[in-house]
Amino acid sequence: MNDRYLRLLGLAGEIHDLASTMGLLEWDQEVMMPPRGVEGRARQRATLAAVLHDRMVDAELGDVLAASAASADVAADPWAAANVREMARQRDRAVKVPRELVAALAREGTLAQQAWVAARQHDDWARFAPHLATLVDLKRREAAAVGYATEPYDALLDEYEPGAKAADLAALFARLRDGLVPVLDALRGAARPPTAALWRGDFAEADQDILGRQVLAAMGYDFAAGRLDVSAHPFTQGFNPGDVRITTRYDVHDLQSGLYANLHEGGHALYELGLPAERAGQPVGAAVSLGIHESQSRLWENLVGRSRPFVSWLAGEMAAVWPERYEAVDPEALYRAANVVSPSLIRIEADEVTYNLHIIVRMEIERALVAGEVQVADLPALWREKVKAYLGLDVPTDREGVLQDIHWSFGLFGYFPTYTLGNLYSAQLFAAARRHLPDLDAQMAAGELGDLLGWLRANVHGPGSLYRADELCVRVTGRELSVDPFLDHVRRKFGEVYGVAL
Ligand code: ZN
Repeated sequence: MNDRYLRLLGLAGEIHDLASTMGLLEWDQEVMMPPRGVEGRARQRATLAAVLHDRMVDAELGDVLAASAASADVAADPWAAANVREMARQRDRAVKVPRELVAALAREGTLAQQAWVAARQHDDWARFAPHLATLVDLKRREAAAVGYATEPYDALLDEYEPGAKAADLAALFARLRDGLVPVLDALRGAARPPTAALWRGDFAEADQDILGRQVLAAMGYDFAAGRLDVSAHPFTQGFNPGDVRITTRYDVHDLQSGLYANLHEGGHALYELGLPAERAGQPVGAAVSLGIHESQSRLWENLVGRSRPFVSWLAGEMAAVWPERYEAVDPEALYRAANVVSPSLIRIEADEVTYNLHIIVRMEIERALVAGEVQVADLPALWREKVKAYLGLDVPTDREGVLQDIHWSFGLFGYFPTYTLGNLYSAQLFAAARRHLPDLDAQMAAGELGDLLGWLRANVHGPGSLYRADELCVRVTGRELSVDPFLDHVRRKFGEVYGVAL
């Protein structure tokens, strides 16, 4: 391979080191840092962000990228071509967004986030609204700087889901909504709906930690290449193929909360750990999109974690930790209790059926906001209207409505749709895995998940960013992303659990 391309890899590796160091500071801030460290940490992050931005827009990087893009050697090697494509995409964006706008977004994001915390705590929308209006304005400027073919929202979406277009997603999500609303109506009419009571009780954090580690070990998570800690909001942070950490939080009265956070974050971590190690530090060695990332967390959380065979294995593990609570419990009853569908106001507490309706509410609102079709002042009323229409609920307070999520306060617009993409990809990928692994149910019932992980590594994790997300989906599942595998899964599972025809 020519030395211009090798130089490109060298520069990309340094950018990756800077970015993963930034990630380490973020992990430390959420997990370890004492409260008074916050100001100094903000400065460290701002300095590092500026260095990173300078590296990304540096002229030498532009030169070696252009030379590599014109090289026949590079074109002949799909991994090298993908590296050039991905690096060019990231650099184009960095070059187009002016440095003062990057700084303004960072500054206003910090202020808006602080205002959001107070606004949510006091249910005081007016405290957050002016900050949000500033951020929306800055994000509209960012979209204009990045450029778009049809609507500004596409330019923001592209940062998280490269190549995705709002109009396509809106059409896909409309089909999903039209499929889900009648399911929800039918489940409401069930004569004997399950309850989650079997998952409630008193569970010491130390005991939940034991169960959580057993489940992660069964999934194939390598504690020599990771850690499990507690933080306010569960998350996964990967620095390199030898260090991918997860966090969880425990509710001492509700076992599902921490356990399913472990399965979710464990799924994210397995994806990061399965990325091609020999490409570590290269653009092609990174996650392809947030939608594919989320597909891996949701696959383990819901398709595996809330399946009948896996819950039957879990029942035995739970009985070993809490014999007096679980020894006599019927695994079938526990399975039903893990699959309660109940429309609720809060997205992060939502079940498999209603979760995507929460996302559709958010995407419709932020798309209109970025397009300038609605104003920040309209949001509380618009939120109530949509939650009533899709979930059938009245929203009593803004803290249970438009103020509930942190995303907009960070300036994350175009991020929410990746959650629903993750759900759709997870169902389609899991259906493909099933076709290749005929013994999967028996394996899950025995807590043996190695074949499933092996299949995911070979087909989803191993390619890294070699293919774009939509291309990967076609290669692995034989078809474009569709709502059908997800709707089939929901109808089959919940029709049976609720005893209704769907
Ligand atoms: Zn996730």
